Amino acid sequence: MSKVRTRFAPSPTGFLHIGSLRTALYSYALAKKNNGDFILRIEDTDQKRKVEGAVESLEQTLNKFNLKWDEFYVQSERQKDCIYQKAAEKLVFEGKAFYCQCKPKNAKEQGFSKVLRDPCRDKNLVSGAIKLKVPENETLTYYDFVHKKDISFQSSEVYDATLLKSDGFPTYHLAVAVDDLDMNITHILRGHDWLPSTPIHILVFKYLGGEMPELGHVTDILSSETGKKLSKRRDSVFVENFLNDGYLEEALLNFVMLLGWAPKDNCELFKLDDFVQNFDIKGFQESNPKFFFNKLDWFNGEYIRKLSVKELINKFDQFSDGFKNLENTKKELITKLVQERIKKLNEIEDLAGFFWNEIELDKNLFGDNYKIHLKKVLEVLSNLDNFELEKLNEELMQIVKDNDFKTGDFFMSLRVAITSKKFTPPINESMIILGKEKTIERINKALLI
Ligand code: GLU
Repeated sequence: MSKVRTRFAPSPTGFLHIGSLRTALYSYALAKKNNGDFILRIEDTDQKRKVEGAVESLEQTLNKFNLKWDEFYVQSERQKDCIYQKAAEKLVFEGKAFYCQCKPKNAKEQGFSKVLRDPCRDKNLVSGAIKLKVPENETLTYYDFVHKKDISFQSSEVYDATLLKSDGFPTYHLAVAVDDLDMNITHILRGHDWLPSTPIHILVFKYLGGEMPELGHVTDILSSETGKKLSKRRDSVFVENFLNDGYLEEALLNFVMLLGWAPKDNCELFKLDDFVQNFDIKGFQESNPKFFFNKLDWFNGEYIRKLSVKELINKFDQFSDGFKNLENTKKELITKLVQERIKKLNEIEDLAGFFWNEIELDKNLFGDNYKIHLKKVLEVLSNLDNFELEKLNEELMQIVKDNDFKTGDFFMSLRVAITSKKFTPPINESMIILGKEKTIERINKALLI
């Protein structure tokens, strides 16, 4: 059996989409599980859609996830050797394609046309754009290894697609086949939206005289809210945005792995290497997966808990300047306190900002008896020499008991006075980190409002 070679072939039109990360991951795993090669190929033949800096950004993002490629190609570079043009001209010579001189009406029509049979098809022109001469009455079939079945198309429904534009640049339909053959690609994994182009590709591969790689179209990812395919306009879809929101690479990758693929057992936590070891194309699911944010948050929490305190401090440093400017011992104490409960790194400012910011008290957050509660705390704290956790726990519980306070209400008064929030890390531990002086200062302030 020939060496497994897969490719990820993005067009450099912007940031990496979460669905593309999934395609890249599956292609990578398929190659690596079989000791094969994973190729990164930049498909930039549509120069109008090219975005400055997009290639570098794609490379950087893939690197962050450790999806290392073995070979790298850029189609516009390859085009300089006229490989696509020569292939298209050969097809004309063999009667499998033809020149066309119709003016493209719009950019879309250079590659896609609603007219099935082109008027120039039988004119035997000798220059112009080159289009595929689609045969009549042929059934075009391939086996889709994601959907695990044969999929067929009738050639009478396939249009004479443009292969080479009049500017000499190939369309995707030609470049993909020339390159996949030239690069000995054995398996193609790509988005479901490419399925309508597949009959064109079946013909082009056949006409170029090569064997079409095995082909699988990964499912669409649906929004859990709308039930529709994730869309750039409605949903958060760019990998960089997820990272900026405080999702860890490992968590995002693990979440994406299971969007349309399932292992044999019910195991859910996979780092990249474990995933590769467990990867099997039989695990692809045929139904479209839904993107549940609460599941992603769960993964993120799991991976945040796995980090060492030092690693997590480094992450928090990137998400909050206030945190970054604290002294190391404080950073450590705060990190240990929030590690168990934080879901996303960008929550650090909201969850722990009261440690480094002055707080603005909101009277509406307090319950009825808060001044009575706080006065008692103040009395005890002022006489407390030993401001450490065990002692503080004891003393505060004693206040609750002696005064017959409701525990929840009492601690809520304290929580709001110290943090101006109702949901915070454990309040007694937080007071210890803040220090006695600051704690007393905040209680005094709260008594004044
Ligand atoms: N260049 C195509 C894209 O941007 C790649 C499709 C394929 O993998 O064949 O998605």
